[in-house]
Amino acid sequence: MESTKALIRDEVTSLPIYNAGLHPETLKRRLGLAHIVKLDSNENPFGPSPRAIEAVRDVAAGLFRYPDRDETNLRAAIAAHLGVPGARLAFGNGSEDLIAIIYRMVVRPGETVVTTVPSFGLHQICAQVLGAKAVTLPFTADWQFPVEAIVAALARRPRILILSSPSNPVGVAMSERDVDRIIAATPPETLLIFDEAYVEYVDPAVRVDVLARLKTYSGPWVVLRTFSKAYGLAALRIGYGVAHSVDFIENLYKVRSPFSVNAAALAAAQAAFADEAHLAKVTGTIRENRQVLAAALAAQDYALAPSQANFLFVDSGRDGAAVAAALRGKGVLVKPWLEPGYTSFIRVTIGTRAEGEEFLAALGEVAPTLAAAS
Ligand SMILES: *Cc1c(COP(=O)(O)O)cnc(C)c1O
Repeated sequence: MESTKALIRDEVTSLPIYNAGLHPETLKRRLGLAHIVKLDSNENPFGPSPRAIEAVRDVAAGLFRYPDRDETNLRAAIAAHLGVPGARLAFGNGSEDLIAIIYRMVVRPGETVVTTVPSFGLHQICAQVLGAKAVTLPFTADWQFPVEAIVAALARRPRILILSSPSNPVGVAMSERDVDRIIAATPPETLLIFDEAYVEYVDPAVRVDVLARLKTYSGPWVVLRTFSKAYGLAALRIGYGVAHSVDFIENLYKVRSPFSVNAAALAAAQAAFADEAHLAKVTGTIRENRQVLAAALAAQDYALAPSQANFLFVDSGRDGAAVAAALRGKGVLVKPWLEPGYTSFIRVTIGTRAEGEEFLAALGEVAPTLAAAS
C-alpha cells in the first residue's frame, strides 16, 4: 500500500522476507502427516539436559517476578568456566538479539559490514536495516574461508567483520592459522565478531580456542555463543557474548531491552551449562551421525562441504528449492539455500540416526524425479 511505503524506511521494505520455513505443526496439518523429520533449523533432537527441564519447572512458582537483569548466577558460572571477568559477558534473547544490538551500537548508515557468502542471513540483514552495506566474500572452491579476500577487505577498514565458525551454512571451521591471520589484519576501527553458534560440535582434536587467540589482541572484538544449538534450548531464546572490554558491555546493556532474557531461559541455561556430561554425550552422538550421513551422501556422489557443525551443506545437483519442496511433501524438512551461486544446495541438520535414514530414503525417491541443475 502507498501509505505503508511512505511510512516505512526503504532499508526495511527492501529487505527479503526471512526464509524460516513452515512450523512443523502447520505442515503436519496441511499434509495430513503423523510425523515430520525436521532437519531445517539445526536444532538438537536429543534436547537439553534433563536438569534444564527440571529448572524450568522450578521457575514456574516465581513467574510474577521480573527476571534477574544482571544474570548473576549464569554470568558467574560462564565467567569462571571461560576464565574471563563476568563484566565482559553480555546475554541476549538468543545470540541473534546480540547481533542486532551490537550492530545498532556501532554501525552508521553507509558503513560496511564484511562477511562470507554463503552466510547466516542475519549477519547481512542487520546491516541493511541500518542503511549499511554488506560485502560478502565467497568461500574458496574447496570450502576454505576466503582469508586472502578477507585480509584485502580489512585493508578498507570496514566497521564490522563477522564470521561464523563453524560456518552456517557451510559447516567448515577456521584453522588456527586463519584465525591468527585475520586477527593480525584487523584494523582498530573494525569490530571483529566471531559467531560460534556451533563450536560445541567441532571435533575436539581440531577445535581452535578463539578466545585464547584473542587474548593478546588489543582491538575491539566479540565472540558469540548460544544455548539454542548444542544445549538444546532453542525455544527459550538465550545466547551470550564475550567482549574485549567492560566498557563495551556497559554500552551494550544501554541498548538492550532491560529484561530481554527471561527467567526460564536463565534457569535452564545455568542447569544445561553445568551438565557437561549431557553436552558431551549429545555432541558425540551428533558427530558420529554426521560422519555416517556424510559418508552415505558421498557414496551417492553428492558433493558436500566438510562439516564441523550439526548440519551438512549438500549440492543436490538440482534446484535446491525444488528438492526441499519435494522432500517436504514426504514430511522431511531441509533448508534450500537461496543466495545466488548456491541455489542447488540444501542444508541438512544432523538429527538422530533414524532421521538421517528417513532423509536418505526420501531423497532417493524424489531426486530422480527432478531435472539436474544446468
Ligand atoms: C542459530 C544461529 C544463531 C542464533 O541463535 P539464537 O537462537 O538466536 O541464539 C546465531 N548465529 C548463527 C550462525 C546461527 O546459526
